Amino acid sequence: MHRIDQVYINGAFCTTHGREELALINPTTEEPMGVLIMADEEDAQKAVASAKRAFSTYSRTSRKERIDLLNALSEAVRVRSSDLTEATIIEYGGPVEQARWRADLAANNFLSAAKLLDDFPFSRWINDAEVVAQAAGVAVHIVPWNSLYNSISVKMAGALAAGCPVIIKPSEYSAWQNQLFTECLHAAGAPAGVINVVAGRGDVVGAALTTHPDVRKISFTGSTPVGKSIMRAAADRMTRVTLELGGKAPTVIMEDADLEEAAAAALSIGFTNNGQACIAGTRILVHKSKVRDFCDSIKLSASKIVPGDPQKPQTTMGPLVNRKQFDRVQGYIRRGVQEGARIRIGGEGRPEGMHRGFFTKPTVFADVANTMTIAREEIFGPVLCVITYENDAEAIEIANDTPFGLHAYVIGKNLDRARDIAAHIDAGRVAINAMIHEPLAPFGGMKESGIGREYGTYGIEDHLELKAIMGRKCDHRPVRASEIKAG
Ligand code: NAD
Repeated sequence: MHRIDQVYINGAFCTTHGREELALINPTTEEPMGVLIMADEEDAQKAVASAKRAFSTYSRTSRKERIDLLNALSEAVRVRSSDLTEATIIEYGGPVEQARWRADLAANNFLSAAKLLDDFPFSRWINDAEVVAQAAGVAVHIVPWNSLYNSISVKMAGALAAGCPVIIKPSEYSAWQNQLFTECLHAAGAPAGVINVVAGRGDVVGAALTTHPDVRKISFTGSTPVGKSIMRAAADRMTRVTLELGGKAPTVIMEDADLEEAAAAALSIGFTNNGQACIAGTRILVHKSKVRDFCDSIKLSASKIVPGDPQKPQTTMGPLVNRKQFDRVQGYIRRGVQEGARIRIGGEGRPEGMHRGFFTKPTVFADVANTMTIAREEIFGPVLCVITYENDAEAIEIANDTPFGLHAYVIGKNLDRARDIAAHIDAGRVAINAMIHEPLAPFGGMKESGIGREYGTYGIEDHLELKAIMGRKCDHRPVRASEIKAG
């Protein structure tokens, strides 16, 4: 049993001031696996004070000092890779194969920022103006439970490269993974106060951090409703925000696609991370003339999915993270049936033969109209909708007919046509014929999927403020105020 009762502030672990307890439940067995003593507002205040103290020195560190720190962080995560993987499998329910690469992804995020920092342009000249990029200030990073190591590391790498101390507010539903990851951060030996971690409730610790006057940058990954509330509150002080929010990604299956391959790809894109992924392709758009054959192929592919204990190597789909998620997903499946969609695979309840754990049947609905609730709202579970179109223009129209715009996928043989469809879809990323991740390319959403971009140089720029310092030549005489044209 894990008892997690510490926050990480000013370079040291200390007992939380908060007293509220949260039982940690193993999603595979529904058995208790520990308790988190959640941080409170006072812990949040201490974390901000610690980061603020660190800002004046850390923001002036040399490129080399920051590169050394980023490399040390990468190494510290790599060393604990197997512990981190074990926690993901048990606490989150991620199947072995899908859990294994997560620590590496985090280690690479730090490494990648270290490399980019080597020649990152913090200053450039425009005629007589030097445009300087300076650290934005104390940064608060709030992250969800579905991709903890990646979310923390990608934000932190950008902030530390830019010269900003950080306060991490991880989800209360990833307490064990967070504890281990924080131990890695500690092992890297950052100067005191540069990295702080406080785990607790969003409406308590999260709210205290995002409304704090000494916080100059908020980078939030989570649901769209919470993102909107953070942006509203941030407006009071013009605190800079980056919001990585929900999605309802379309997967456009082109008319010329090989249907068996396309069905297999659409399922793996839709069911990635047990269906709990912001980038999952949850609306599968299929040409009307092909839909019957496509659904047959979906059935065949789905028969190869193995739900079960994520610790077993043959398992390809684990449980949902907690009871709340399980009930939410079951509710959407019920709603889909009520609204007239037809279940092609799956449905309500647990997979056959399973009587405990937050397992849900991988489910695909056909005869879905894009106006139905299951096609409009983010379900965040393994529930997919098949929607038909008659031509490319209609496919694009349906793809864009959503409040979200995070990710999209196009699958088909004619690559020129695929690129043309991709060019017309309003999403921060569009992947053609694969679930590709390019860590140097920008990641972020259009419309209600968010604002701002992460990864690569974009993640560093995201933590900088631009300032123009005028006057390169010393032979200029001082200009009188009366000579300056009103702008
Ligand atoms: P959530 O919005 O409920 O919580 C996310 C984080 O915000 C948690 O740490 C939570 O404690 C905190 N929080 C909650 N209320 C808060 C408040 N009032 N003030 C400050 N912080 C608060 O989301 P979740 O259920 O943890 O995660 C799932 C959501 O995250 C999905 O919508 C998914 O699409 C989204 N997500 C987006 C991306 C992306 O990159 N766009 C990546 C992963 C997950």
